[in-house]
Amino acid sequence: MIDSLISFLNASPINFYAVATLEEILSANGYQKLDAANALPTLKAGDKVYFTKNDSSLYAFHIGNQPLAESGLRLICAHCDSPTFRIKPHAEMFGDGNILRLNTEVYGGAILSTWFDRPLSIAGRVLLRSNDPLHPTTRLIRIERPILTIPNLAIHFNRQVNDGVALSKQKDMLPIVGIINDQLERDNTLLKLVATELSVTKEDIIDFDLYLYDTTPAQTLGLHNEFIQSGRLDDLSMVHAGLEALLSAKTNNATLCFAIFDNEETGSGTKQGAGSPFLRSLIERLVAVQGGTLDDFYRSIEKSFMISADNAHAWHPNYDAKYDPTNHPVMGGGPVIKFNAAQKYASDADSAAVFAEICKMAGVPCQKFVNHSDIAGGSTLGNILTGSLPLRGVDMGNPIWAMHSARETGNCADHEYCIKAFSQFFAL
Ligand code: ZN
Repeated sequence: MIDSLISFLNASPINFYAVATLEEILSANGYQKLDAANALPTLKAGDKVYFTKNDSSLYAFHIGNQPLAESGLRLICAHCDSPTFRIKPHAEMFGDGNILRLNTEVYGGAILSTWFDRPLSIAGRVLLRSNDPLHPTTRLIRIERPILTIPNLAIHFNRQVNDGVALSKQKDMLPIVGIINDQLERDNTLLKLVATELSVTKEDIIDFDLYLYDTTPAQTLGLHNEFIQSGRLDDLSMVHAGLEALLSAKTNNATLCFAIFDNEETGSGTKQGAGSPFLRSLIERLVAVQGGTLDDFYRSIEKSFMISADNAHAWHPNYDAKYDPTNHPVMGGGPVIKFNAAQKYASDADSAAVFAEICKMAGVPCQKFVNHSDIAGGSTLGNILTGSLPLRGVDMGNPIWAMHSARETGNCADHEYCIKAFSQFFAL
């Protein structure tokens, strides 16, 4: 199963590719893509369908034996975006020695220093001219070979570097893409690179969403290969765990739902994020095609349960003082339920009790996380989603180290535990 996670991580350098990879796997496993712009077909028990939005979020449903109003949904949600760098328009910046840098801005809360001295490349989507100006053609692009790096400053120029250094996102973090001596190549270098990669002309390209990614593949490490290290573990490991549970699920009385949102790292406030009413609208429409009323929709929400799956912080032996004295999940200790008195997490005693019982039934251990009371901590999907869908639900995730580093580290056993717990949930 870790090999499958490693393949998924390597196939998904950026949100668009995560969704494309999910589409490929779902299609190969009997899921039919539906277009939210069309009238929904009648769906019967056992039907498997999915929708996408903006090519960067995905919503899969395995229709249950009973109407939604009777058995509700079993929802697992996660997010497919991770901190990275977005290439700005007019990105080329030439310097001495004909060195070309690209102008970028930071996406999400990256640990900037972890992006230094890595073999980076470019992935994202490109919008090409079509006959219909309202609907340009979208093509995904992933340059496989490393073509960029962000070099550190030598220690000789900054003897205090190991005492901590303030980094400017605009000055210190710009990637170098090469030495461009050829005068012809200097014009629109990036555009020409993209055009060549896609076998189109640069005049065909109207715009793009391009990001940097670390080309270093995911790998296991540790004396017993107990760890997995990769970029984007947060939150593609939870996406993968949810996917595995969905693929192995049998038709249940409840309808199973697997929702992968974009833009969690920037606050979820987009049409493809957890703050969007899109998932709610899909559920309303599914209730309607089952012949249900608005009242049936509300009943379906009351009968549903959500697992909001986003990675948690594993206890780090070098930084014990940063953790809560009695609730610091450890690597290999199983999935983590997240609590916060300020309600940044959706978990409460009711939803946590449900998830703990699910873990018990699945035969997997389960842990609890609470912030050190002097440290603010993060937020996630669950509470944002409850703004449009007031679901009972739990915020949980597997423990990892170095969240938002270019390379995060997780535990292989925890991944297996999580898939078992999710599979148990989809069987309830
Ligand atoms: Zn996350």
